[in-house]
Amino acid sequence: MTQVLEAIVGLIWGDEGKGKSVDERATEIKEKNPGKRLVVVRYQGGNNAGHSTHVTLPNGKTIKFVTHAAPTGLTNNSDIAIGPSVAFNPESFFGELMQAQDLFNYDGRIMISERAGVLLDYHKLIDISRESSKAPSGKIGTTARGIGPFYEDNARRVTRITFHDYISTLFPKKLKEVLELKRHELEGLGININDLFLELVGRHEHVRKELAPFAKNLEYRLREYLNNGDSILIEGAQGTYLDVDLGSIPHVSSSHILAPHAFASLGLPRKLFRVIGVEKIYPTRVGDGILPTLSGPEFGEIVVERGVEVGASTGRRRRAGYPDWVLIKRAVMLNDCDEIFLTRADVIQDLDVKVCTGYNINGRVTDEVPFDLSTIISPVYLHQTFRWHLWDEPTGVDKETASRILRETRSRYVKEGFASLPTGLLDFVSMHDKYVGCPTIEIGIGPHRGETV
Ligand code: GDP
Repeated sequence: MTQVLEAIVGLIWGDEGKGKSVDERATEIKEKNPGKRLVVVRYQGGNNAGHSTHVTLPNGKTIKFVTHAAPTGLTNNSDIAIGPSVAFNPESFFGELMQAQDLFNYDGRIMISERAGVLLDYHKLIDISRESSKAPSGKIGTTARGIGPFYEDNARRVTRITFHDYISTLFPKKLKEVLELKRHELEGLGININDLFLELVGRHEHVRKELAPFAKNLEYRLREYLNNGDSILIEGAQGTYLDVDLGSIPHVSSSHILAPHAFASLGLPRKLFRVIGVEKIYPTRVGDGILPTLSGPEFGEIVVERGVEVGASTGRRRRAGYPDWVLIKRAVMLNDCDEIFLTRADVIQDLDVKVCTGYNINGRVTDEVPFDLSTIISPVYLHQTFRWHLWDEPTGVDKETASRILRETRSRYVKEGFASLPTGLLDFVSMHDKYVGCPTIEIGIGPHRGETV
């Protein structure tokens, strides 16, 4: 394997399986390129993301490790980097490092752009207060991690505290200035800014010192990877339909999520990278907002149960619908995808899978996603439905044996490749690729690292 340059991004509303996909790619690249470096880079969002990886430790035990602020590379011994457009929560990031320190060695593996803005307590307090406001028009259904208020402060410029400011001795001065500028808003929430100032300065002293060595002029450091033949994996958080401009407004996140923004913000050339879209085979949504193919007890509710569709960041239950290729086709276009990783084919086995290829809007059928999803009267489904069977659930054995049997079955598919998958699934994929105009190159059939065909 030679140098790998890829951006891995989500094609729906997040939770597509980006963490698992990046973790698998990183593990493969590390194994095949001993002696070469690999960096996994986060380019947007903050600790509102949640990537789960299932890691097998040297003692054979598998643990689930969830990162919110740190890129997935933390759990596979890759280098990790935080880009300038990230809402960087230093305490959350540091907490994940502490959690990882006994399991992984991260010495010399961490880079944080000096330009990254720092998210502090008051962003979260403002977010929570807005989300609990009595006026429904004030709520978006956010993860209440302060990301929206953070990006507002970034755009206002004078209220942006960069990572450079954060680690400098002038941090208290900068913080005081910013709190002064926000006095009106914070006092309106009953916050005493003098107390908040003292608390933040005291609490962050240790974290600032610990994180200071990681500050980098990131665009130049990433170029060194590029020029040395080292690999770069860019890891998206959230998904296409949460993009602040091109997502399902107003129920969107406040960052630029699409792959082109990754290249713009990291100063990396698109033409050298492959863009891979991660597509959960059925769409899910958490929080408010319309899901065009939302389905009930015949499909969606079964899927939510089987797929344990609960957010890694918030614990909120998701809603699920039939595969919606209209959404995916637009996401492929906007991200300029070269390839697709399809995840969770196992979750919908043995169900009749309908596929949406158009929307009925006021009696007219279109394959465009409208700005206002509420104008969709009904999804238009293909006449053909798909169904596949991957394995029988092991019965009459204890939990551990059942999980071992499932792992063996999955690894047989992995070993034997695409051709060994059931025809129903292969037909689905072949029609999918034709419709969305992009080839599927990997299919996920289980939650653990390596359970991908
Ligand atoms: P992200 O939010 O897009 O990063 O999503 P994650 O990578 O955190 O994935 C969410 C959950 O889905 C994790 O527990 C993954 O292990 C699980 N997952 C990912 N791909 C598959 C798959 O193909 N099959 C199953 N059953 N679970 C998967």
